[in-house]
Amino acid sequence: MNVRSPASPERGDFIREIVAADLREGRHRTVVTRFPPEPNGYLHIGHAKSICLNFGLAQEFGGRCHLRFDDTNPAKEEQEYIDAIQADVRWLGFDWGEHLHHASDYFEQLYEWALHLVRTGKAYVDDLSADEIREYRGTLTEPGRNSPWRERPVEENLDLFERMRRGEFPNGARVLRAKIDMTSPNINLRDPVLYRIVHASHPRTGDAWCIYPTYDFAHGQSDAIEGITHSICTLEFEIHRPLYDWLIDNLPVPSRPHQYEFARLNLTYTVLSKRVLLRLVTEGHVRGWDDPRMPTISGLRRRGFPAEGIRDFATMIGVARSDSVVEVEMLEHAVRDVLNRTAQRRFAVLDPLKVVIENYPEGRVEEMEVVNNPEDPSAGTRRVPFSRELWIERDDFMEDPPPKFFRLAPGREVRLRSAYFVTCREAVKDASGRVVELRCTYDPATRGGDAPDGRRPKATLHWLSADHAVPAEVRLYEHLFTRPDPGADGDLFADLNPESERVLQGCLLEPGLADVPVGETVQFERLGYFAPDTDSTAEHPVFNRTLTLKDTWAKVQAQGRQGA
Ligand code: ATP
Ligand code: MG
Repeated sequence: MNVRSPASPERGDFIREIVAADLREGRHRTVVTRFPPEPNGYLHIGHAKSICLNFGLAQEFGGRCHLRFDDTNPAKEEQEYIDAIQADVRWLGFDWGEHLHHASDYFEQLYEWALHLVRTGKAYVDDLSADEIREYRGTLTEPGRNSPWRERPVEENLDLFERMRRGEFPNGARVLRAKIDMTSPNINLRDPVLYRIVHASHPRTGDAWCIYPTYDFAHGQSDAIEGITHSICTLEFEIHRPLYDWLIDNLPVPSRPHQYEFARLNLTYTVLSKRVLLRLVTEGHVRGWDDPRMPTISGLRRRGFPAEGIRDFATMIGVARSDSVVEVEMLEHAVRDVLNRTAQRRFAVLDPLKVVIENYPEGRVEEMEVVNNPEDPSAGTRRVPFSRELWIERDDFMEDPPPKFFRLAPGREVRLRSAYFVTCREAVKDASGRVVELRCTYDPATRGGDAPDGRRPKATLHWLSADHAVPAEVRLYEHLFTRPDPGADGDLFADLNPESERVLQGCLLEPGLADVPVGETVQFERLGYFAPDTDSTAEHPVFNRTLTLKDTWAKVQAQGRQGA
């Protein structure tokens, strides 16, 4: 695969080529982009692609990127979303500086420009209902019909539009429409609605307005006001571009932005529709917008994904003009790559089995020195207490092991990481026959995990001192949906994975793990990457499994190379 360096402006996707050419050939002196979320939900990994593209372009070409809330629909927008969006963009590592804007900042100007269209005979107030407008609009194969109100005199339009603004009419009674062409093959040009009546309080403008501009009327004009040079959006807006240009051409706007479209991100096993994500939350299928299974930025953060991994993923997938589906394993691969370099290694036991070292003195505690990250010598070492009674992972023992099982079994010696070699002497069982304890002996000559005679056990296990281990809850996460194309058979919610979250109680942690701050991800040796959950407290630590250690994407790639 073609993995490009994130720092170079010569990354070569079509948008970067357009920007580079515009600067080179003097069409623009600087690049100004914007990320324009509608505050009607939390941001997700698809938005992250757009954020990395827009802010990334500004960084690479020495321009700037605005954060602009497309807050034109007060019925669905909330302050909670506005706050979360800002936190998420910042967390991803981007900064809009002074350029935090809102479409609502321009309501007065947009209204003036609407009046301008009315005065120049290019917009009219229509009394048709929403259903009638739809009916008159025609279809992809049939032209639309003119509204009976289309030829209203300018004075009457001005009067009605001003009265719409003053609140004289109920929701839906009238709209303002552009007068373009009801027979246009592009339905977006068939007299699109510019303003609708919505008697709703707005998070920013309160009750100052009861008419609100549509996306189409607000977006391009906001771009023009802010001096946006490259207005980048996803492909579904391609058919809106003629309207975008028509409005810019017919209004006295201060600059001339251009819209460019790129393919939105689709991910296997993942749904990126805000409408569906909202249902998952409101119907209680998840713990909230930031549930670690959600593809939201806040969910990925809570899960333990580092921002750097998400940015790397955006670089890996690049920007193209045709839609495709990216395998979620690629995102996981990018995240593992970062965590492998940065995550501190720790000991934790998810399913504990007691080990008693019979020849180790009672009451003795040794502090074993353990490497924090073999990939990063600067991460140093830490001391982990070792004593006569230990915990190991239950599945690191088999009473009757098959040929390829090299871990602990009766009579077998293994290495306890950075501690000693131990040999299993006996498995103690309860009345039901379940193994409840292993009686072992250790070789005092192997302190630190090496034998003077050079013998090397085939397995190295992690362990915890029973007296020092800290109990914890651990939540194991899998894909939220059972199939790569959720909903392909019709019912998306039937494809929810009932085992997407498994909550384990009675897990045990190395002392100190309970103090890992939220926001830091560690590796539980041999188990995976884990991050403290926001529910975690000193009394009741809770860790989320970010990812297992197994990298299925790397395997897919390796197979591809072998096949090639
Ligand atoms: P909706 O408009 O239905 O509420 P949306 O996902 O388009 O949902 P916006 O807040 O309008 O939400 O999106 C903000 C920006 O993020 C837009 O420019 C949009 O094109 C971009 N975007 C949204 N989803 C994706 C995606 N899956 N991949 C890439 N960019 C996306
Ligand atoms: Mg949108």
